[in-house]
Amino acid sequence: MKINKNYAKMKDGYLFAEVAKRTAEYQKANPDKKIIRLGIGDVTIPLCKAAVEAGVSAVREQGEADTFRGYGPYRGYEFLTNAVVDYYKKRGVTIDESEVFVSEGAKNDVANILDIFDAGNTALIPDPVYPVYYDTNVMNGAKIKLIDANKSNGFLPLPHKKLKADIIYLCSPNNPTGAVYNKEQLKAWVDFVRGAGAVILFDAAYEFYVRDPSLPRSIYEVDGAKECAIEFCSLSKTAGFTGVRCGYTVVPRSLYNLNALWLRRQSTKFNGASYIVQRMAAAVFGPEGQKQIADNIGVYMKNAALISETLSDLGIFHTGGANSPYIWLECPGQKSWDFFDLLLSRANVVGTPGAGFGKCGEGFFRLTAFNNFAETKQATERIKAVLG
Ligand code: PLP
Repeated sequence: MKINKNYAKMKDGYLFAEVAKRTAEYQKANPDKKIIRLGIGDVTIPLCKAAVEAGVSAVREQGEADTFRGYGPYRGYEFLTNAVVDYYKKRGVTIDESEVFVSEGAKNDVANILDIFDAGNTALIPDPVYPVYYDTNVMNGAKIKLIDANKSNGFLPLPHKKLKADIIYLCSPNNPTGAVYNKEQLKAWVDFVRGAGAVILFDAAYEFYVRDPSLPRSIYEVDGAKECAIEFCSLSKTAGFTGVRCGYTVVPRSLYNLNALWLRRQSTKFNGASYIVQRMAAAVFGPEGQKQIADNIGVYMKNAALISETLSDLGIFHTGGANSPYIWLECPGQKSWDFFDLLLSRANVVGTPGAGFGKCGEGFFRLTAFNNFAETKQATERIKAVLG
């Protein structure tokens, strides 16, 4: 047998392992210090009541002969795909039910979508960004071009005439920078890609965090996007489904023959998200569920606002926080890992060094809004005391 040689080109998952190692070493040497984690990339608020109740009753249904269900439809149950269509409709976007594919989370689909593309494609990936885009293209042996996201473009790179790529990754609101494209900027990408035989893979995992009504939560809010973009969504960060696992991907039928190819791929390699999970997800889109998750996101956004306000008071440049759970700050006169060590040792606060997300992340640092308010407040007070 021959193994996939591309795996030898993968970099080790160094970032979070190194964060954990340095944090554990510091704690061991200073057992009396209470470390606060503002590097958390996972949600901390439990599932909303509507989802739990729907899950419990779906489990009961699975235990009764009359209501038991085995394999479900490849694209997901219609009660959920229709709920997704309505969810878009409320935001002024029309999609067809046949364009929705229920997934077990955005990561799975963002990674697996490469199955329907030729490995000879060139992928354009922002730097810094969610590492899965880069790593999956390395695994596939695709050519990769990076596009700089930096302070001068507000961490929102735009296309230019000389740029050539087949698959373009956009993530908005962005992980790790928290930056959000406006409609004109997304239009520039859509115009660039449309008719050029390329495709945009738009990761909208954090769309629910967008507060500013003028900012797009879906790329389909931009005219022409349905001819050039696939959109990936998730209930992970929006409804606390990181452990439950459910998301959805929209593959428009006006996008070459990609809808048919993705259905073919899914029906061969995927047997659907579980009935129970899909019932829970559908409950999130109901009126009660929407209200409950909005309340939960409100808690995170209060944390984000506090972190952002603290950095503004300190005169520290940062993006994110207003429409995203991530705050991306410029390390005052330091490299990312030096700033990590300083915050850990002097404020006993842990964040994530930006350098770990790409070369343009050097000198920057990610804080997240996923801790509770009391600890977030305490952390901001400590940061003020150290950097003020
Ligand atoms: N996309 C982005 C930008 C993310 O930051 C994450 C998770 O952190 C995901 C996708 C993964 O989401 P899921 O839990 O739905 O797989």
